[in-house]
Amino acid sequence: MADHLARGGDFLLTDAAGRVVFSPEDFSAEQRQFAETTEELVKKEILPDLDRIESQDFALVVEKLRRCAELGLFLVDVPEDYGGLELDKVTSMLLAEKMAPTGSFSITYGGQTGIGLLPLVYYGTGGQKERYLDKLTTGEWVGAYALTEPDCGSDPLNARTTATLTADGRYYLLNGVKQFITNAGFADLFTVFAKIDGKHFSAFLVERGFEGFSVGAEEKKMGLKGSSTAQIILDNARVPVENLLGEPGKGHKIAFNVLNIGRLKVAATAGGMAKGAFAEAAGYATERKQFGRIIGDFGAIQEKLADMATGIFSSDSVVYRVAGLLDDRIATLDRSATDYYERYQKAIEEYALECAIAKVFCTDALAFVVDEVVQVHGGYGYISDYAAERYYRDERIQRIFEGTNEINRILISTILFKKAESGTFDLWDRVKEAQANGEGGGNSGTGAFALEYSVVANLKRLFLLVLGSAEQARESQEVLLAIANMIISIFALESVVIRGDKALAAASDNRKELLKAVVKVAAFERASQCYLAASRCSAYALSGEKLIAQQRVVAGLSACPVDGLLEAKRLLAEAAKESGKYFF
Ligand SMILES: Cc1cc2nc3c(=O)[nH]c(=O)nc-3n(C[C@H](O)[C@H](O)[C@H](O)COP(=O)(O)OP(=O)(O)OC[C@H]3O[C@@H](n4cnc5c(N)ncnc54)[C@H](O)[C@@H]3O)c2cc1C
Repeated sequence: MADHLARGGDFLLTDAAGRVVFSPEDFSAEQRQFAETTEELVKKEILPDLDRIESQDFALVVEKLRRCAELGLFLVDVPEDYGGLELDKVTSMLLAEKMAPTGSFSITYGGQTGIGLLPLVYYGTGGQKERYLDKLTTGEWVGAYALTEPDCGSDPLNARTTATLTADGRYYLLNGVKQFITNAGFADLFTVFAKIDGKHFSAFLVERGFEGFSVGAEEKKMGLKGSSTAQIILDNARVPVENLLGEPGKGHKIAFNVLNIGRLKVAATAGGMAKGAFAEAAGYATERKQFGRIIGDFGAIQEKLADMATGIFSSDSVVYRVAGLLDDRIATLDRSATDYYERYQKAIEEYALECAIAKVFCTDALAFVVDEVVQVHGGYGYISDYAAERYYRDERIQRIFEGTNEINRILISTILFKKAESGTFDLWDRVKEAQANGEGGGNSGTGAFALEYSVVANLKRLFLLVLGSAEQARESQEVLLAIANMIISIFALESVVIRGDKALAAASDNRKELLKAVVKVAAFERASQCYLAASRCSAYALSGEKLIAQQRVVAGLSACPVDGLLEAKRLLAEAAKESGKYFF
């Protein structure tokens, strides 16, 4: 079954075998060309100036943004009717990934191309696009997105910022404070969320020069030091009525739909940062000697290199599978339909679950990677002269913005239950079926990855069984988090196995062995994670004999008896040492 025929969440109820997913092996020549252009820019023009960027030389940052504009990088998501390239989501993610090793600058860039531009692209009227789109895509202006407030971050619909129509009906007066706004220090156009008459949550396009608008002091941050983060203050800010974005009272649609793509971009960025950090560790492991040997010869370091590489391979598999899902669905839409953008949003919303999975999985994988990269460097990883230190600091926010990973995990579980309640998703019948079959049901694997396919099938069965036993306990967030952790592990592993299986056919002998190794390691790691989540969930929901019985089922269905795990890790570590960078 091709993935584009799947609805969001379908992967949980259907077999992995035979499913076709998009993966980095499928990048087109055009997509690769964009990636190379971005890589060149990063290597030759941004990384050499990173020290100045990190010390907040914002004039230089804006200059670099304009350079991105010259190369057409801001046109990727813009409709052709407005001079844009309107490329696919895969390209968009690829650019975010390639920009990521620049840390701070990649966040500035993301603020412009993602949350800065997309609200206007998706929801702007013709007039609004005429007025602002060119300015943003040429880099003449910088964009920003102002949702968070001092008293509401995870709960943005509780915003206190108000918008009141003036007596002559020509302006909205905006009052309130927005917190932690990326690019605030130099942005020219802000998408600001406020409640009309304190009730109707809406979005507005607010220019920096509007009367009553001001920007607070720069925040002093742990990482991403070269990006701008500041409050914006709206004190009777006069916003012309024609700058209302979308419909009044429908701001939540803009906020959440832009966040879906935003989450996938954070995931892609996390993958790119992880690759940058990994290269530091792979290089260092072959240079640093202790006890008369390079540290990369020690099993302890080799295990780290192998686990990191597996995490990155898994992240890529997840990000590009989800981007492919979005592209396939968007491609079925009628471009000339008057409600094209409405349908476009619905297509994205269909995969809100997968976008949240990608955000959590890839940022958690990055957290693991940067921690291990510092560890590989020993004490030097703690010293700012080494890039490992910057990657470690820059990572921390990735698990907090675009919805904290807790909020995203809760979202993953609740989206699934909502789908089930809507009657179009067969979840509870499948739970009953699994309960009737118990541990039985056989496995679905064939070919080189027969074992790994059967692990995926078993984890899905386990998920349904655990879900059934936890039905009464679904009110507890701890249970929702554990359920989400199972879902995330299943999606990540399934993406890796299907990708590995597909890539094997065209791979060289050497690459074949690497693919088999990485799929093996991923299967073992994700099954272990699933075991932990399923046992935790069972222990929260059950007690006594029922819990004991379920623990046995959990252990049985999450078992991953792969042969040659150690050899697989050693192979991956050798590849890392040889290439000095991420090697898939
Ligand atoms: C560098 C940086 C850049 C940013 N850029 C932007 C930007 O450009 N635009 C913008 O609008 N915002 C931006 N943000 C804000 C960011 O999105 C928020 O910080 C984030 O959404 C979390 O909100 P909060 O900080 O208020 O934390 P809170 O919402 O107060 O959360 C605190 C803790 O409580 C948990 N929590 C909260 N509610 C629940 C719940 N219901 N159930 C379980 N746990 C819960 C959270 O997971 C977290 O662990 C940025 C922040 C930073 C630091």
